[in-house]
Amino acid sequence: HTSPKPSPLPSPLRFSKFFQSNMRILVTGGAGFIGSHLVDKLMENEKNEVIVADNYFTGSKDNLKKWIGHPRFELIRHDVTEPLLVEVDRIYHLACPASPIFYKYNPVKTIKTNVIGTLNMLGLAKRVGARILLTSTSEVYGDPLVHPQNESYWGNVNPIGVRSCYDEGKRVAETLMFDYHRQHGIEIRVARIFNTYGPRMNIDDGRVVSNFIAQAIRDEPLTVQAPGTQTRSFCYVSDMVDGLIRLMEGDHTGPINIGNPGEFTMLELAETVKELINPNVKISMVENTPDDPRQRKPDISKAKELLGWEPKVKLGDGLPLMEDDFRLRLEKPNKP
Ligand code: NAD
Ligand code: UDP
Ligand code: UDP
Repeated sequence: HTSPKPSPLPSPLRFSKFFQSNMRILVTGGAGFIGSHLVDKLMENEKNEVIVADNYFTGSKDNLKKWIGHPRFELIRHDVTEPLLVEVDRIYHLACPASPIFYKYNPVKTIKTNVIGTLNMLGLAKRVGARILLTSTSEVYGDPLVHPQNESYWGNVNPIGVRSCYDEGKRVAETLMFDYHRQHGIEIRVARIFNTYGPRMNIDDGRVVSNFIAQAIRDEPLTVQAPGTQTRSFCYVSDMVDGLIRLMEGDHTGPINIGNPGEFTMLELAETVKELINPNVKISMVENTPDDPRQRKPDISKAKELLGWEPKVKLGDGLPLMEDDFRLRLEKPNKP
């Protein structure tokens, strides 16, 4: 007869969880575009308590205004490059500027956010035994030599270019996730997110969908960066959030691509926006930035098979939803 091993004392959180099966969830970068939609979805479940940590570099309290003051919600002004002490069961680690304009603005800070920020969140996950999900990016594939991109492709990234702070930063963040998993047994999830769009995108953040919609509403020419034949695949934000939650609560570490496989050239995107939003708007060809990937389309077989996930919202249906939000914020309520 062997007596059972004494189990360690439950932390106050685990103790409350034992009674209520509550879940306390940290969302870093939760004041941003994807993060705030994720918070909306998590808050729908009354068993969830949500803590957002954000330094408001590219996010805003406005995105979370409906939750401020809610008893299950807490907002902390915090930079993830500094240590953070909270008691949580889940960490969605999104904190990082996603738009090239912002991540190139202070590239050294972008690297710190990706490397030190992710290290801190892993240290936190280790201390409290939380499961942590990293929002990595299709940019880890660089200017891909494999098309469409599947998760086993190692990528084609310039280590010293102007995008490298973001691309290589995320690649190191992924490495850290897997090393903490192997070395310390942390439960990890890695999502490789492809271009995502929807309401609450920063109006002037320079990303292609937000640019074209704002330009069409303001009746300014749509700026297609040369050659215009480069492709992207655009995922509506509600589909993205659904994919992230499934990955977090599923049994697979990933990396798993989450994105919409519908692939468009930037010229096609401009034509679509023109048709849907402002048929009179002009399309103009402008200079491109260095290292712009020429094609991008996710292979989502893994997400389909392992998470039972695939996107539902087509570009033609998602763009008008975003138009409504942009018209409100640009104070241009009516179509021309
Ligand atoms: P976003 O810029 O709207 O949100 C990022 C949030 O992180 C902002 O609220 C910002 O203030 C916060 N932040 C930045 N640095 C921080 C720091 N050091 N400490 C604390 N908070 C910080 O971007 P998003 O589109 O919502 O992207 C969210 C995540 O998804 C990012 O990790 C991004 O790399 C990833 N991702 C996004 C896309 C996309 O198309 N939107 C594509 C691939 C990957
Ligand atoms: N960390 C944190 N919150 C915690 C625990 C750790 O922010 O609750 C930070 C900590 O400051 C450290 C990093 O996470 O810089 C990595 O922590 P870990 O314990 O893995 O490494 P060590 O502290 O031994 O370097
Ligand atoms: N792009 C464009 N016009 C713009 C902004 C971007 O044609 O006003 C192009 C850009 O050259 C790139 C694609 O759109 O090929 C996607 O750019 P974005 O910055 O949105 O995302 P990422 O490059 O990170 O995929």
